[in-house]
Amino acid sequence: MILNNYRSGFVTLLGRPNVGKSTLLNKLIGEKITITSPVAQTTRNKLKGILTTEKSQIIFIDTPGIHKPHHLLGKKLVENAKSAINGVDLILLIFDSNFEPGRGDQYIKDFIMTNKYQFIVVLNKCDLLKADKRHLRKKQYREIFGDNLITLQEVSAITGEGCSELINLVNNYLPEGPLLYPKETLSDQPLKTIFSDLIREQVLLNTREEVPHSVAVNIEKIDEIKNHKKDKIQKLTAVLATIIVERKSQKGILIGKKGSMLKDIGQSARLNMIKLIDGPVYLELFVKVIPNWRKKESRLIEFGYEDDS
Ligand code: GDP
Ligand code: MG
Repeated sequence: MILNNYRSGFVTLLGRPNVGKSTLLNKLIGEKITITSPVAQTTRNKLKGILTTEKSQIIFIDTPGIHKPHHLLGKKLVENAKSAINGVDLILLIFDSNFEPGRGDQYIKDFIMTNKYQFIVVLNKCDLLKADKRHLRKKQYREIFGDNLITLQEVSAITGEGCSELINLVNNYLPEGPLLYPKETLSDQPLKTIFSDLIREQVLLNTREEVPHSVAVNIEKIDEIKNHKKDKIQKLTAVLATIIVERKSQKGILIGKKGSMLKDIGQSARLNMIKLIDGPVYLELFVKVIPNWRKKESRLIEFGYEDDS
């Protein structure tokens, strides 16, 4: 049932890499639509995750963290984060409550203040802190933001603590409005992008530092194949993907002994794809070396680092 005073709007998740933005988004939506990783900067383009309830439709925008650019790719990530803020109704400023507010947080705060955005401070990973530390952190963050801070919420994107409270708080900030996307929509991203991210996630998780961010995944093809099994017709989704690295040595690492690494990556990514689309998946992976792809603008666009300004 949709009520009369229905609310809808856009909410950006903003924060430094690794504070748990993507994990929180997945928790709030209740599905795995964005990749999370112990390695910073795994979120590439901004991604919308949509939560539709009886009271509201919240369109969350996940962004890469704001940080100082290092090279072309880094600069793009920062530009993306800033463009994800324009015109939104609310910003969730996400912090890792393991850490005291620092200089980087001041940068984010100043950025918000000068632009006069509505915001909620979200202290994530509260499951990792004892009660006295949690109390202290809340006090420290309140001090940093001073009178400008109206709402602060502690959450754990892992256990889910504080998440329903956070959703209620977000609702208070949204304007009255209709559904902006059909009720069942979870994300505005094409399946291709989500599949590509699921593979990229496994590459980063399995190889850690050895294959850094110079990896891209290109989904060449997604086919729906119909299998006739006895009297039943079974649908199978066949995915063909290429993992692109910058150096030959990285290709070796990715493939592993007798192909074992690539097999593990493919198997884990495939299981997540099955969960996402709720049906069988066949996945074929290739590895290709393209030196310096990150420095080439046309390649960035080809591999999904789109310029959407
Ligand atoms: P992002 O860069 O801000 O999107 O961060 P991610 O969502 O990728 O998370 C970074 C790391 O922090 C991952 O290893 C997550 O599992 C972990 N993490 C995120 N939220 C929590 C939390 O609430 N509690 C704990 N213990 N770990 C978390
Ligand atoms: Mg992320």
